[in-house]
Amino acid sequence: MKRKTYFAVVCALFFIGFILRYAADHSDGLFIASQKEGESGLMADSKITNKKVYLTFDDGPSENTDEILDILKKNKVKATFFVVGKQTEKARKQYQRIVLEGHTLAMHSYSHNYDQIYSSVDAFGKDIKELQEMLYEITDVKPTIYRFPGGSSNSCAGNIKPYIEYINKEGLLYFDWNALSGDAINFNLSPQQLNKNILNDVKKQKVSIVLMHDLAEAENTVKSLDSLIKTLKKDGYQILPITKYTQQIHHVSVDK
Ligand SMILES: [Zn+2]
Repeated sequence: MKRKTYFAVVCALFFIGFILRYAADHSDGLFIASQKEGESGLMADSKITNKKVYLTFDDGPSENTDEILDILKKNKVKATFFVVGKQTEKARKQYQRIVLEGHTLAMHSYSHNYDQIYSSVDAFGKDIKELQEMLYEITDVKPTIYRFPGGSSNSCAGNIKPYIEYINKEGLLYFDWNALSGDAINFNLSPQQLNKNILNDVKKQKVSIVLMHDLAEAENTVKSLDSLIKTLKKDGYQILPITKYTQQIHHVSVDK
């Protein structure tokens, strides 16, 4: 073999060896990369959806608040708590925990006393301010989202419109609901029945605001919650906390 040819063969073998070695070193990475792309592609197909559910809990804090928060945390889900005014040390910690764990702390009146709240717009406003200031002092967050006791369609307020005008004037937002479990109508409904009621409503619409209660008596709401969240996720719903950008559901409204 001539010297030039010998040199060319050695170079070629060296080059082929280099290519083979490079391929061996990087094949796992290439495989993993393509596998990951495949996974994210699958996720894009099955998980991203426009169907939204907002879980809301009225009337807390209560004996059940911490357990509700534990279940939400375990399932990595954020919700909205429409709270009333309570001054106990335990309640203060629960308001703080709601905020610290990323949920929306929203207002549901200080007293929850219909006769008092709906006696006049002045009384209504004082009640809101009392709750808002108390929550700000405890959590450093000034809530701006409200739910009328009984909803905006309640029969106790008489004409609700002046109260809605007050909410609008103060730059607050109010949210009613379009799905409910019935947990405060009958505390004996089974966890399965509560979830059935919610899912019946939820499947009829793209955006659902679900009314539940954070009340000591509503134990079956706590028992049903883990299964509700897992079913909603399996069926492709996004579970989100209410914010000022959330599509508002109003039973009664007035033009701004
Ligand atoms: Zn209530």
